[in-house]
Amino acid sequence: MLEFLYRRENVELRILTSRITEALSRERRSSIVNNRKTQRQIESLTVRAEGKSYMEVLRSIKESVDVDKLGLKISSIRKVGENSLRLNIEGGGDKANSLKREIQNSVNNTKVRVRNNDQDFFILDIDGTTGEAEIVSMIQGELGLDPGSFTIKALNPNRAGNQTAIVAVREEHARKFQEAKRIRIGWVACRIKSKIQLIRCYRCLEFGHRTTECKGADRSKNCMNCCSAGHQARECQQEPYCLSCDITGHRMDQTKCQKYRRLLEESRRNTKDAPRNTNDR
Ligand SMILES: [Zn+2]
Ligand SMILES: [Zn+2]
Ligand SMILES: [Zn+2]
Repeated sequence: MLEFLYRRENVELRILTSRITEALSRERRSSIVNNRKTQRQIESLTVRAEGKSYMEVLRSIKESVDVDKLGLKISSIRKVGENSLRLNIEGGGDKANSLKREIQNSVNNTKVRVRNNDQDFFILDIDGTTGEAEIVSMIQGELGLDPGSFTIKALNPNRAGNQTAIVAVREEHARKFQEAKRIRIGWVACRIKSKIQLIRCYRCLEFGHRTTECKGADRSKNCMNCCSAGHQARECQQEPYCLSCDITGHRMDQTKCQKYRRLLEESRRNTKDAPRNTNDR
């Protein structure tokens, strides 16, 4: 039911609702939700070291990190590229982040990405003078969450002179966020909204199915901005291109795209009739 597939830093997939679940009855859906709760939590970490082979990366992290000391249980290690590997860690919470810190502190030139069951939320209406530190302390104070249970991923200004924060909240605390609906930051009772994330295939880049179900073209090495091969989105110099609309001018994963907006709306509707304690996935 729960699957994470990703390629790069700016790619993230969280399943809100799938074609399959849409077809299922509400009863069946809630039983899936309940089963999921009892499943063990796995967090995933990708380690990459430029210029080192998979084996060298593995050897160097094994030599320098003591997983027993950190109290970590690794459930699998596998090669995911010439110079990267993926570790699955049991236990949930913030285990993957502590391993990430440890690897980065002890092995030079490694890039570590963590994928866990965090749920993203928007905090809207934050006034323009507010900084990250203040937001963190308000979340602590108002919602009673400790700083280890959430991360401010971004704080973006908008046209009205305000800011929107994107906050990744650890799965076990997401409900608090969801139920709060508003949080006071500065003078304003800021709105909290869940960030809807759609099922997406990171092989063909299309929405609506997962990589394991993909029958499309392999675009897994293509740029997420212009969809052409040979570079990554963060170094992209081209105009954005949307595969769904087959036109340039917008990315396929931005609200500028009508088709993308429609998918979001659909997903939002489905989330509404899903049982309340689903954590929206
Ligand atoms: Zn696909
Ligand atoms: Zn590009
Ligand atoms: Zn489009």
